[in-house]
Amino acid sequence: MVWIAMPAQVETCVLGWAHEYPAHVSVTTLSQFDGHTVYAVTVTGPSAGGSVKPGLLCAVPHAHEPAGTAACMSVLCQLITGQTLEGEPSKHDVVAIRNGVVVTIIPDANPGGRARAPVDAWDGMQYTNEEFLACAFGVDARSGQRFPRPNRWRVGELEASRLGIVWEQVGADTYVEPNRDPGSSLFRLTRQLSAERTYNRWLDLHQTEFEGTDRNCQVLLPVTQDELPPPIRDENQTWGHEITQAWEALGARPAPPQALGYTGSQRDYFVTLWGEHYRRTPEVSTEVQNNRASTPPQTQRDLQEAAIWVSIEGLLRNPR
Ligand SMILES: [Zn+2]
Repeated sequence: MVWIAMPAQVETCVLGWAHEYPAHVSVTTLSQFDGHTVYAVTVTGPSAGGSVKPGLLCAVPHAHEPAGTAACMSVLCQLITGQTLEGEPSKHDVVAIRNGVVVTIIPDANPGGRARAPVDAWDGMQYTNEEFLACAFGVDARSGQRFPRPNRWRVGELEASRLGIVWEQVGADTYVEPNRDPGSSLFRLTRQLSAERTYNRWLDLHQTEFEGTDRNCQVLLPVTQDELPPPIRDENQTWGHEITQAWEALGARPAPPQALGYTGSQRDYFVTLWGEHYRRTPEVSTEVQNNRASTPPQTQRDLQEAAIWVSIEGLLRNPR
């Protein structure tokens, strides 16, 4: 298996594809404060009769969750070249996909954070859960405990003796949680892309540890799922079930799709930042187990990749 998750590897592949396949690859970039470049790769072919094609936007928000990146790079390679990263012919009808839909993928929305990761993949063999969480979120210099998880923080208010992978530096002394702050590259780039074209589906690829359960994957629906307009709500539900079925077919142990369970200020925060978007655009998130020997990197990548293909092929079947 070829596992591409580190920023330099992603960059080499993306620039190579853009150079070699300009007819169906276009790249949008954004510079992070620390100098890393965030890439959005759009793949599409000629459209029949100039019709507007449905679009999927797929992103990996969190730097400590590399399997989404590995899966995005695998899917992009197939969509662009017709071959897998391992050099086999793709099993997917990539020409039909290119002709029928627009796929935009942000394989890593925080390369600056990812570059701090000590490993390319979290296989559960080298780091205990506590050690992993200390890498992911960092260590508080004052307490020596795991760093807190504010949406945004400044050096001086907080001090990290170890800077967590999750944080994106957005200023000389300011860091944000990419999924929870409008100043993040994720937010800025998705807003820019959405201004350029309509995306009919958003897919976010996440990972979590599934501590204390025997499940190893789950689709999460928006925190406001039950209040969404019925057509959006129903599409999220159907789409979530399709991903779950694909995971079962791969022998995974999915928990049933569920709305993100935040309450109180956490919930208010998501509603403020993303609520209007959720009302207009179907969106689901994957959670695939990270840092557990029972879900090795190959399986992590396979599960994330299955979710992407289900999302693309659903859009191809039912263009709206
Ligand atoms: Zn995440």
